[in-house]
Amino acid sequence: MLAPAPAVWHDAPWRALPPLAGEVDADVCVVGLGGSGLTCIRELLALGRRVVGIDAGHVAQGAAGRNGGFLLAGLTAFYHDAVRDLGRERALAIYRLTMREIDRICDETPEVIRRVGSLRIADSPEEAADCDRQLAAMRADGLPVERYAGPEGRGLLIPTDGAFHPLARCHALARRAIDEGARLYEHSAAVDVLHGGVATAAGRVRARHVVVAVDGGLERLLPEFHGLVRSTRLQMLATAPAPEVSIPRPVYARWGHDYWQQLPDLRIALGGGRDLGGEAEWTHDAAPSETVQVALERILRERIGARAPITHRWAATVGYTTDRMPVAVEARPGVWAIGGYSGTGNVIGALLGRAVARAIVHGESPELAAFARKD
Ligand SMILES: Cc1cc2nc3c(=O)[nH]c(=O)nc-3n(C[C@H](O)[C@H](O)[C@H](O)COP(=O)(O)OP(=O)(O)OC[C@H]3O[C@@H](n4cnc5c(N)ncnc54)[C@H](O)[C@@H]3O)c2cc1C
Repeated sequence: MLAPAPAVWHDAPWRALPPLAGEVDADVCVVGLGGSGLTCIRELLALGRRVVGIDAGHVAQGAAGRNGGFLLAGLTAFYHDAVRDLGRERALAIYRLTMREIDRICDETPEVIRRVGSLRIADSPEEAADCDRQLAAMRADGLPVERYAGPEGRGLLIPTDGAFHPLARCHALARRAIDEGARLYEHSAAVDVLHGGVATAAGRVRARHVVVAVDGGLERLLPEFHGLVRSTRLQMLATAPAPEVSIPRPVYARWGHDYWQQLPDLRIALGGGRDLGGEAEWTHDAAPSETVQVALERILRERIGARAPITHRWAATVGYTTDRMPVAVEARPGVWAIGGYSGTGNVIGALLGRAVARAIVHGESPELAAFARKD
């Protein structure tokens, strides 16, 4: 096991926020200051609610500040698989909601986004045939997609996707939320989440509503999700500037197991190989492991052709659900839970954060219905 390390995104200073001490009152307490929780907080503020947000570590300490930086429409399942599993109407509704959410994310923080599209590249004849099925299903429903052939390989181009700086976005959201009146506390882990509030080691937030916006580790904080959500480690590495290669848009390869993008300063951020790490990757330990890092290094050198030295190796945990559908539910009276994005939560987490805020304020949210489990 290698030591935990900063992600490539940790390139700007962040002024630490105080821990919670004593009792505070709010209309809503949001637990987890990643992209999902911060989006929820800003939506609640826009709807006139008093909000307190707490995080066990610092803002975007989890996957939200340590991920691949892809903004992908749809669910973790490719579109044609989602149609098979959910039915056409529901899969299409969810896909459209996520496209709209990418638009909102771009409007909200344009300074950290590159709307350059994304590639799905096939690594085998079977995967090429699967790309054909995805293309057909998306075209049948009028969704934006093109066939692609280029230096990265052959597959599909989704022109409406994009790439972003995940940590810079979270910092921007947190700063704005504070300016808009939210009270945010770092190093304040929720130890008890109850109807009517949240307890930390040194304080308590009294609030009618609680939103737990935790992806990796959701089942630890709310044990009722054991069996549905299981936390796993995802790993990445990054290089010094690699002018020897040119990758204009994020690439998703080998059935989405591996993914990489070239940043504006020409560094490469590459993730994946989780399937190659075996059972050991089902863990809450966010330190990179040698097996997966060796696999990533091979992709970097042999597949991508980059020679630049590796400067960063890191990992973070996310929640996978058994059916690969996210969690967005009132788990206990007055306590909402969102998470379990099964590896792609940048867009859906924000979408569900907004949707839950509206459900709390208006008593319902049409977006949530599309994600409800039918059981
Ligand atoms: C390496 C990697 C690459 C990825 N690449 C992509 C990608 O390219 N595109 C994509 O869409 N998704 C990607 N993902 C998934 C995506 O990062 C996550 O789904 C998303 O960021 C989850 O954000 P969140 O705000 O919901 O939760 P989290 O990031 O899990 O944030 C939850 C916060 O809650 C805090 N917390 C935890 N427990 C407590 C507690 N008891 N009390 C208070 N606070 C607590 C944590 O400190 C954390 O800051 C990737 C994930 C990883 C790890």
